[in-house]
Amino acid sequence: MNELTPFDPHSELTLALRYSGKLLLRKEIPLDHATFQQLLNQQQFIPHASIIRKFSGPKCNRCNNQKRSLFGIIPCQICRKQHLYCRKCIEMGRVLECESLYSWQGSKPDWLSHANPCSWIGELTKRQKLASERIVEAVTNLEKELLIWAVCGAGKTEMLYAGITSALKKGKRVCLATPRADVVRELLPRFRQAFSSVHIQGLYGGSKDNDGTAQLILATTHQLLRFQAAFDLMIIDEVDAFPFHADPSLPYATSRAKNETSTTIYLTATPRKMHRKRIARNNLAHIFVPVRFHGHPLPVPTMKMSLNLRKSIQRFLPPNHFFTWLKNRRTPSRQLLLFVPTINLAERMGEKLIEKLLISEDITSELDLVTVHASDVNREEKVMQFRNKEILILITTTILERGVTFPSVDVAVIDAGHEVFDEAALVQISGRAGRSIDDPDGEVVFFHDGKTDAMVKAIRSIKSMNRRGGFK
Ligand SMILES: [Zn+2]
Ligand SMILES: [Zn+2]
Repeated sequence: MNELTPFDPHSELTLALRYSGKLLLRKEIPLDHATFQQLLNQQQFIPHASIIRKFSGPKCNRCNNQKRSLFGIIPCQICRKQHLYCRKCIEMGRVLECESLYSWQGSKPDWLSHANPCSWIGELTKRQKLASERIVEAVTNLEKELLIWAVCGAGKTEMLYAGITSALKKGKRVCLATPRADVVRELLPRFRQAFSSVHIQGLYGGSKDNDGTAQLILATTHQLLRFQAAFDLMIIDEVDAFPFHADPSLPYATSRAKNETSTTIYLTATPRKMHRKRIARNNLAHIFVPVRFHGHPLPVPTMKMSLNLRKSIQRFLPPNHFFTWLKNRRTPSRQLLLFVPTINLAERMGEKLIEKLLISEDITSELDLVTVHASDVNREEKVMQFRNKEILILITTTILERGVTFPSVDVAVIDAGHEVFDEAALVQISGRAGRSIDDPDGEVVFFHDGKTDAMVKAIRSIKSMNRRGGFK
């Protein structure tokens, strides 16, 4: 084989493509010992300590974990000593303190400058267009950050295409990071269709095509722990979402994965306090997309106070008001998405409701009502069945609060005052209704036994977006 073909695993080109912009363990570098040693001697690979012991305690250099409780101790077969290892990032493969992390200092890959990478031919709405142009501007002017505050159902993916196109034209490398593997799986085929001439990879736990050598990468935030100084354009989807919001190692990984001169685009429908404060102080560039792609306002939730809510829940049933509402829905043909606060309640309520609704003839078969939650192995399949309208009522925990689109649903939240339903969760949940152009409306009801701040703020925020969008 010719030494210079990109297919030779030892060619300069292939090495640059595979290892530039990464931070890897030896076991993640599939090179034979002699080659690896040679590259190390030539200082093309540079070793870095993986776990360091500081006066204040240990620190993992892969995920930045500094919590003592998240380090374990294990005997090392090679050194015959007890070693620290990081439990925080263990799902990316165990890091022992005697192992190094390697970065590539050899030549850099030459990313293609694509003349015309985007073949998407759809049309943007006026609001989408404004946001899209603003993203292009940020990429062109190498702005550091830009936040897109777009309501649920605004059609944010299409707004990104022009910005990604302008980056690819300049031979830049692009990453879209999302907290959820579901989103990577959903977006990958859409991106491959829109950018058919570009090498695109989707990285998530268990993904097949995962050497991370593509110019355009869609990845879960966890996967970014393997990257360093790799991307010129970083798009962070649902920047407010768990676990990105709750796990400090993920913002750390995302920020390390960027180049020094990179542009970061944040996407969110429900920005957290930190971003809102920066917006209020005028130190975070942002643009609003307050209107859904179909041009109709967001459904505004109503609150239903039920004094018997606790008692009903103890019997694993929704409150009486729920049944009255169910009988009198404005559009009974819509499917129903029923949110409950806990997995246990979801499962128990599922059984009880089937019995009750069969008797009241609201459903005709026990297959009409299905329960789904995070630890459900059939989760994907059930969501698909609901989307295909094979199920009438889907009981769910907050796992379906975002990232999923069903064309025509009403939404009920049982025990909306529960602490899992914070403001962002309630806005996202309400955003499941009225998603399609054929049924742009939908009822959203919060059943509670005492208003919470989160409920009031969620409704206020939805109304204010509607006002901003030019509705009443
Ligand atoms: Zn770690
Ligand atoms: Zn060791």
